[in-house]
Amino acid sequence: MFFIKGIRVSEGISFGTLRFYKRELRDVEKKRIVDEKKELDRFQDAVAVAMGELQVLYESSVSRVGQENAVLFGVHQMILEDVEFVEEVEAMIVSEKVNAEYAIYVVSKKYEELLRKQKRAEDMRDVSGRLLRILEKQEGELHIAQEDVLLVADDLLPSETIQLDSKKIRGIILEKGAPTSHSVIFAKAMGIPIVIQAEGICEEKMQGAYAVLNASEGTVCVSPNEEILADVKEKQKAYEEYRVLMHAKNIGEGGIRLCANVGSLEEVSVALECGAEGIGLVRSESFCLREGRVLTEEEQFSIYKEMVQKMGGKCVVIRTWDFGEDKQIDGLPSMEQRGIQWCFENEEIFKTQLRAILRASIYGNLAIMFPMVTSLQEVKKAKAMIECVKKELETEKVSFDREMKVGVMIETPAAVLESRELAKHVDFVSVGTNDLLQYTFARNRLEFQKENFYEQYYSTISKMLQMIVENVHAEGKKVSICGELAADATLTKDFVKLGIDELSMAANAIFAVKEQLIK
Ligand code: PEP
Ligand code: MG
Repeated sequence: MFFIKGIRVSEGISFGTLRFYKRELRDVEKKRIVDEKKELDRFQDAVAVAMGELQVLYESSVSRVGQENAVLFGVHQMILEDVEFVEEVEAMIVSEKVNAEYAIYVVSKKYEELLRKQKRAEDMRDVSGRLLRILEKQEGELHIAQEDVLLVADDLLPSETIQLDSKKIRGIILEKGAPTSHSVIFAKAMGIPIVIQAEGICEEKMQGAYAVLNASEGTVCVSPNEEILADVKEKQKAYEEYRVLMHAKNIGEGGIRLCANVGSLEEVSVALECGAEGIGLVRSESFCLREGRVLTEEEQFSIYKEMVQKMGGKCVVIRTWDFGEDKQIDGLPSMEQRGIQWCFENEEIFKTQLRAILRASIYGNLAIMFPMVTSLQEVKKAKAMIECVKKELETEKVSFDREMKVGVMIETPAAVLESRELAKHVDFVSVGTNDLLQYTFARNRLEFQKENFYEQYYSTISKMLQMIVENVHAEGKKVSICGELAADATLTKDFVKLGIDELSMAANAIFAVKEQLIK
């Protein structure tokens, strides 16, 4: 038994077998072959091995995750049995004299596109990844979406994290990772306990070991003894009781509002379970990261509508697309800009989102928020686009909420300085401390560490918050914080003193923050 100390970034305790996540092979080398027969045999052998693996996976999964989930492996087998796919790979090997890996890579990319509409692109990627792994004779079997494990990785991309199934992945342990990375943010929102910077966790000997992940303490206990297991089970039980107790407590009318940040419909249910008074931030780009493409107007409309309906009369703030930096999708145009600037450069994609939000606004209390604003001009331009979309909808006789509130995120020093002017033209503001920190201190948000945070950075951020509150309150509008700082229970009382009106955070963090308010 031994402990690995990482950095605490979330709550929860979990157990499981450590499994390494090996990233898919992205670029496959194109090689010229001379013996086509040998290459065809390699391909057919790989298909046979993959079929066998899938059969074993199916059989072992039925009891663990139920027939309805295990059936996925059957779907993967069907893809491998698809005559067209197999023949196309074989034809490419023969006609272009290329290696099997390259032919699989090219043909599966095409099929991924074709299967996207049926939401089967990921399965195609999975199957081709399996074939490539077999051909490359790589060790290990892991598909991150199907194992009931503690997932171990060097680091995860946000688009990888978001595809994890929170019902099957019990926890995440990263050797690297940063507290305000979107991977950490997504894992927390999905309710998956996560520990980062767990040095040594990626050593080969960890693979397959049983471990206890205590996210609330930022530790991993590998091969725990009976005593540790009993202790941790006790703590887990106590944590569940604490959640129930906190949920029942009331912080009273007129106090600071506690809301949740979400990136999926499932997270809205978690938000309600944790007693969120509203959704202070919907990271709308999460839907696209999960699908690997921008959603259509209808798809967006149905998600926004369901979200707002699920929340009853409680407010749901949808932030418009905030792509860029670590939130990227293949094939999206111009990723140099972020937030509202990106939206202006991609007007059609932006307008489609505005239409979907406005159409959903009649189903509850929906508000819209623009990210990465730096000037009043941008706000005026974005509001003018809303007006333009409203006119379009009027002409089409489509209903929408004419009073829908519009807010901005304050996450750049420019927006802090302009907060009075901005507040004049919007209904509310929300402070994105994750980006505000990086743009104020000229540090990449992925490099921010918790150590020395309070000594080095907090007093500056606190002065900024004070300035924002004074400016925005002077205009009679409300201030929320929706960056990760909102979840820091050691700062809750400070935020109350500063006059912050709302804190929006990963739903699971609400309990600890609430505790500070009722103490
Ligand atoms: C922030 O910057 O604090 C924020 C909430 O936005 P995101 O983390 O999605 O960039
Ligand atoms: Mg931000």
